[in-house]
Amino acid sequence: MSKFVSTRNKEEVKTSKQAIVEGLSKDGGLYVPLNIFEKRIEIENLLKLSYQDIALKVFLTFFEDFSEQELKDAINRAYDSRFSEKDITPISKIGDSYMLELYHGPTSAFKDVALTVLPHLLKISYKNQNKKVYILTATSGDTGKAALEGFKNVEDTYITVFYPNESVSLIQEKQMTTTTGENVQVVAVNGNFDDCQRLVKECYETIRDVQVQLSSANSINIGRLVPQVVYYFKAYIDLLNKGEINLGEKVNFIVPTGNFGNILAGYLAKILGCPINKLVCVSNKNNILTDFIKTGVYDTNRKFYNTISPSMDILVSSNLERLLFILNNYDDKKIATYMKELKENGIYKIDKDLLDKIREHFEAFYCDEQDCKMAIKEAFEKDKRLIDTHTAIAYFASKQYKNGSKNIILATASPYKFCNNVLDSINSDKKENEFDAMRELEKISGEKIPENLKEVEFLREIHNEVVNVENAKKIVLERIEQIK
Ligand SMILES: *Cc1c(COP(=O)(O)O)cnc(C)c1O
Repeated sequence: MSKFVSTRNKEEVKTSKQAIVEGLSKDGGLYVPLNIFEKRIEIENLLKLSYQDIALKVFLTFFEDFSEQELKDAINRAYDSRFSEKDITPISKIGDSYMLELYHGPTSAFKDVALTVLPHLLKISYKNQNKKVYILTATSGDTGKAALEGFKNVEDTYITVFYPNESVSLIQEKQMTTTTGENVQVVAVNGNFDDCQRLVKECYETIRDVQVQLSSANSINIGRLVPQVVYYFKAYIDLLNKGEINLGEKVNFIVPTGNFGNILAGYLAKILGCPINKLVCVSNKNNILTDFIKTGVYDTNRKFYNTISPSMDILVSSNLERLLFILNNYDDKKIATYMKELKENGIYKIDKDLLDKIREHFEAFYCDEQDCKMAIKEAFEKDKRLIDTHTAIAYFASKQYKNGSKNIILATASPYKFCNNVLDSINSDKKENEFDAMRELEKISGEKIPENLKEVEFLREIHNEVVNVENAKKIVLERIEQIK
């Protein structure tokens, strides 16, 4: 049976259901599947399968303590009518590359792919336990709404979302603050995403309650990560079926990266046998990962920038810990040491051996604000595609990076979540009102505004709480008392 262990203590062994419920290990580590190199999914067996069928194969590989029927039910509920595309994550051409469209879900960001299914997995994992579940979520913009939609009105489940005050896009903020549902809470924190993520992790490590089980909707939860492995296979199969590549031919995936969750899912796909040449990690102006992949030094002692791609404004990329653990032969002591150095000094340096292993699979680029805007303009004018401020970062890197394999850009959000900045990039004047900008973009591009974003303009704001970082934990403790 497939087991999961903590990156900071291998003795901490869990089933997948336990790992999903807990989210983060008590020692602060992240759960990683054991014996992952012994697992394999044969591409030849996927050729005729639907998204849902591929998902089942991937889920069965990691979640062996679920029955096939349980997984089928979860998958069918998540990927029925909630995505506007039958293929869930369709792939299309953009210039001489391809674009994997991950934004056709209920909140128009790639986070939907995992967060539509996670509540069902959690519910199955939690069956027959006489406790309530309380989901803590830190968001850089998109996870928040996707998690709220996934968990609102789910029985015996409660959720609080913390987002960085004034550092998400107006549409992202409105999406969250207008969410209805008895069990939801949305709080703006005077700080950045790293502060929100640190807060949430600290709560897991320090709060124990016999009646209320804390869990996570962030990509630190293995139940978030595994569903993201699916679309790497799906993209490959689609290109194969369209005759764009030959069986076995390797491709590159270009991934706009923040918390390193999406790209880590790509690496898991590669381990399972998806023919991937390089995974290209692209950062915005917060280019800590670029420096790390080039030098082996992870140094958070640097300025934090608020950019026009806010969902990637992150300095502490949690899922990198999983990659280091896997590539360092599951050496938990070593990882615990790195993470201790990170906590105490804000910096750690990995050995050359490990860096070489990372570079065997990963390339790194970054894209500043100016280049991001130019990329949006170029995609619009040359390729007739309207792309968002995160996808543009990957588009930029895709233009620079050629190694003989075809490039697949991961398109992570709808451009309508970042209207004025997209409008501005394609040389039209910004509008006073973000929703006027939305309509203007539709007029210029002819691309339909997703209903869920259009309606935000007319919804009432329900959540308006703002707290300082020091007081945020108190909110969690108070909510636990209310939930009981
Ligand atoms: C979350 C997000 C990212 C970054 O993904 P990670 O898994 O955190 O690396 C990129 N683009 C968008 C639009 C996002 O919402």
